[in-house]
Amino acid sequence: VPQLAVCNLSVRFRLKTGQALQALTDVSFSVPAGETLGIVGESGCGKSTLARAILQLVTPTQGTVEWQGNTLNPHDKASMKAYRRAVQCIFQDPLDALNPRMTVGDIVQEPLLALRPELGKAAIRQRAADLLQAVGLESGMHNRYPHEFSGGQCQRIGIARALSVEPQVIVCDEPVSALDVSIQGQVVKLLAALQRDHHLTLLFISHDLRVVRNLSQRVLVLYLGRIMEIADTARLYAEPLHPYTRLLLAAIPLTDPQQERERLAQIRVGAGELPSPLNPPSGCVFHTRCPQAEAKCRAQVPALREVAQGRWVACHFQDSDQ
Ligand code: SF4
Ligand code: MG
Repeated sequence: VPQLAVCNLSVRFRLKTGQALQALTDVSFSVPAGETLGIVGESGCGKSTLARAILQLVTPTQGTVEWQGNTLNPHDKASMKAYRRAVQCIFQDPLDALNPRMTVGDIVQEPLLALRPELGKAAIRQRAADLLQAVGLESGMHNRYPHEFSGGQCQRIGIARALSVEPQVIVCDEPVSALDVSIQGQVVKLLAALQRDHHLTLLFISHDLRVVRNLSQRVLVLYLGRIMEIADTARLYAEPLHPYTRLLLAAIPLTDPQQERERLAQIRVGAGELPSPLNPPSGCVFHTRCPQAEAKCRAQVPALREVAQGRWVACHFQDSDQ
């Protein structure tokens, strides 16, 4: 039984203008316990909506989330409470996610006081201190406030907070994107170490394929709310099968921000803009940017098919012999 499974999940938002935004369409995948699954795609592709749907922060229009083989039922209060404890999250902006009026010690204690009050105050204080230590914050720092810390340190505090209730799953939504490149690697390493030590299941969302590479066993590629490809990490990087995955790999960012802006601008010109999710292309949603698109692509949505063991691709021109 997988730790987590998403089954035919679709999310549509109604905007204030009355327009419908289809954020996710028929997304299905499962994650075995202890796996790190990287989820990649450009911003606006539905990654955060997927995270929020898994965290039960948005209600799907269709489809379900299964946890340890059971379909989540929002009306079942006891199992939802257990789920909320088992599935924690880390968001992109670490400072935003931390209450500015609480000390970091209190920030890490808060979920335990809410969800595990039976442990008692002294044990909770000790556990918070241990966790802050484990993420690299010395004990002298525990009485300070979030604004006194760097972005990388704040993200470490967020990680300690997420770990406090002994979760089984952590959903990380762009956890290092707001950090300096020099700090990103440290935080990724920390997450990888904690994942091993605590046998966590990680969903690691990023727009940057470089970031998920060393951390993930498998990678899922999203485009305009649909899955384009799922593959073992090594195979995805060695031999990307979906044209969008190839585009993403070609777009791996440079570290110099100026060069990076120029190069990204070029890729956008060369490969076309990301279409608006308010008005997605017909057929294969990628056809407006795909170098291999043919007439069929404009007319028919390609199914996500298993083209080789464990390898799923949504493209009309991917056959099982490849
Ligand atoms: Fe490109 Fe067509 Fe494949 Fe879509 S279905 S990725 S447009 S070749
Ligand atoms: Mg996002």
